[in-house]
Amino acid sequence: MEKVSKTAPSLPKIERWIEDHKQEVIDFFQAMLAIPAISPLSGGQGEKKKADFLEQYLKALNFGTIERYDAPDPTAEGGIRPNIIFYVGQKKTIPTLWFICHLDIVPVGDRGAWTFDPYKPFVKDGKLFGRGAEDNGQSLVATLFAIKCLHNLGLKPVKRVGIAFVADEETQSKFGIEFLLKRGGIFSETDLVVVPDAGFAEGNFIEIAEKTILWMKIEVTGQQTHGSTPELGLNAHRIGMQFAIELDKQLHRKYPLENPLFKPPTCTFEPTKKETNQENINAVPGKDVLYFDCRILPEYPIKDVLGEIERMRAIFEKATGSKIAISFLSNLNLQAPPTPANSPVVELLNAAIKNVRGIDPILGGVGGGTCGAYFRIKGIPVAVYERTDGQAHKPNEYCVLDWLFEELKIFTLMMQA
Ligand SMILES: [Zn+2]
Repeated sequence: MEKVSKTAPSLPKIERWIEDHKQEVIDFFQAMLAIPAISPLSGGQGEKKKADFLEQYLKALNFGTIERYDAPDPTAEGGIRPNIIFYVGQKKTIPTLWFICHLDIVPVGDRGAWTFDPYKPFVKDGKLFGRGAEDNGQSLVATLFAIKCLHNLGLKPVKRVGIAFVADEETQSKFGIEFLLKRGGIFSETDLVVVPDAGFAEGNFIEIAEKTILWMKIEVTGQQTHGSTPELGLNAHRIGMQFAIELDKQLHRKYPLENPLFKPPTCTFEPTKKETNQENINAVPGKDVLYFDCRILPEYPIKDVLGEIERMRAIFEKATGSKIAISFLSNLNLQAPPTPANSPVVELLNAAIKNVRGIDPILGGVGGGTCGAYFRIKGIPVAVYERTDGQAHKPNEYCVLDWLFEELKIFTLMMQA
């Protein structure tokens, strides 16, 4: 409660500053969104252009310290995946309050589903439209202008404030947050970390836990033959379908726990992608490839789930005479413990949300993954917060500008001593 009374007096000043700078924020946001930043793994060129644009902007601010950590990646433009760090406040020995946002965006996807050019951002009815507007543009811009607002108003920063704009969040984080954490010397265990990269429209949810993402590819090999003589082959498609259904049932049966901290409260096991097996109808397919997207509660060790999947695989392979190969495409070492509800970063964020919005946020967990898990497995507490309309990865993506400005207020209050 102390935080609330301490920060409240500056709120009208912050609000006025935002009012006076709205157009500047929107212009900057639009210019940034016109620069795509897509991972080479998703068919893009990386984040170099966007990072250069941001670094230029930070330099022109004429305060704070900029550091750049480029991870080598020969498949990306310039052979690098850029990461930018920006600090204000006291010396390095002081715990840092961090805001972690990602530079990269997801590809356009089905271009036909868009009613406008995804890289020609525009404002309409209080919304800013464009690929990356919500994910992660809204919070990246809010964070950046919060630090500018803090400086412009001459407000004293709480200890040391750092913002990190990282690469590669949408694909694997190998060249982004994982690269920075492995490198060492940037983050410390006593730091306070905010990852503004997931939330709901109510804006009343602080995420303190994430399920572990388990993506698996199932490849069934049978024997191809003419459609009229199935007895001469082995139908991989039928086995693939049967296996998927049985595995689906078994995983739900074996892992039924409900943890009310999470939304939804159970593990999820979803058959998702299906590869084309053949173009023609009149052959029995010899190959079948499908995928599952599973999200595992922290109560169930990943090893245990993998063991169950392997047990099912072996039974099915033996019973059908096919070959079933399963591979895992997500980082299974990311089973992170929840952030304690009473950790300083959660309390600081909680107080700022209360102050700006007059509501009591709910603390909970989600199935989605953010940069947060990389800190949590290292024992660094993380609060994930954003107010969004669930536009991430969708066609015609937009962000609600009022929510961006609300976030700007919340972050500035958090940054202020
Ligand atoms: Zn994101």
